[in-house]
Amino acid sequence: MRKSPARLMILIYFIVITAGIISCEKMGESELNQEIMPFVKGVYGNPGTLLEAGYRFDDLGMNAIFVRSISLNESLYETARLQNVQVFVEFPTLLGRNYVENHPEAWPIDETGEKSPPADWFMGVCPTDPGFWDYREKQLRDILDKYDVDGIFLDYVHWHAQFETPDPILPETCFCERCTSLFSEDTGVQVLGAGIPEKADWILVNANSEWRGWRSRVLNKWVSGMKEIVREMRPDALLGIFYCSWYPDDHDGALFKTLGIDVEAFIEMADVLSPMLFHKMKERRPSWVGEYTGWLGDLISASHENQPLVWPIVQAHDNPGIVTPDEFRQVMLKGIQAPSTGIMMFSDRSLLDNPEKIEVMMELYLEKPED
Ligand SMILES: [Zn+2]
Repeated sequence: MRKSPARLMILIYFIVITAGIISCEKMGESELNQEIMPFVKGVYGNPGTLLEAGYRFDDLGMNAIFVRSISLNESLYETARLQNVQVFVEFPTLLGRNYVENHPEAWPIDETGEKSPPADWFMGVCPTDPGFWDYREKQLRDILDKYDVDGIFLDYVHWHAQFETPDPILPETCFCERCTSLFSEDTGVQVLGAGIPEKADWILVNANSEWRGWRSRVLNKWVSGMKEIVREMRPDALLGIFYCSWYPDDHDGALFKTLGIDVEAFIEMADVLSPMLFHKMKERRPSWVGEYTGWLGDLISASHENQPLVWPIVQAHDNPGIVTPDEFRQVMLKGIQAPSTGIMMFSDRSLLDNPEKIEVMMELYLEKPED
């Protein structure tokens, strides 16, 4: 099996960057990146559909696929390798409708003590459920055992909620007995109240900031735990995170408050950050794609030791609304600007539904030099 070069390339990248700061001051950052490691040009989803439709990844200018775990198979993996295309696998960390239906103890509980209903199509899992951790760990190990992937991209690393919409669904969870007990144990906060509604009310009134911080740390443990498994089994593979690209103040701070996402903590742990810059779903202008990646780049370079790469995922998908080929071009152009060192688009289906979008992607990917 082929050894993945991705992590080695990152090491070389930082060594050369450090040396290059002195000798290449006049060279722009993006030029420098391109000199050292290939700019990643990918498609997210089930990219095998492009092969079935008669395309080749390399002819489309792609050098990477970001394939959902359920769509990964040997034939796709082997074809990608033959076309010199890197294979990154999306891993649906805390998504689990079927799981919670079969394991009610893992269903997120809201502040009234009831099972929190599905948030549109999304159904999250209580992240403290040990059975669910075991279930996901086994899945991750199976993938890593079978395939020498270039990276695992954690998806749905957030508490139960729906953010891929202009009107987010933001329930308060999870107040199951396990979560409130662990919260007490981990923080030393003694939660008062007889039943779940009373305890939830007490927490939200008396220990709100401790609660939010604890919830975030629970997610971070998922990331660090999954990263350990990746490092152990495939030391050369990258650990990426897909995450909600709200700014910290958007929606009254719901990124941290409700989803539990602390971007600075993700920066400390990830090799690659892939903000989900779905402009149409979130009713943003195409220019927001560039603004957000610039903001993230500043956050990474200003205050952290770990320097994850930034590979945004942009939207070509038509639902809700229509993303025209020209609009798709605009978000791609914004998404490939520095500090990005890679990009992917969502998704293969939207390309096949509108061949003009294939033309847009192909033109940009073939124009963009790899090194
Ligand atoms: Zn819980």
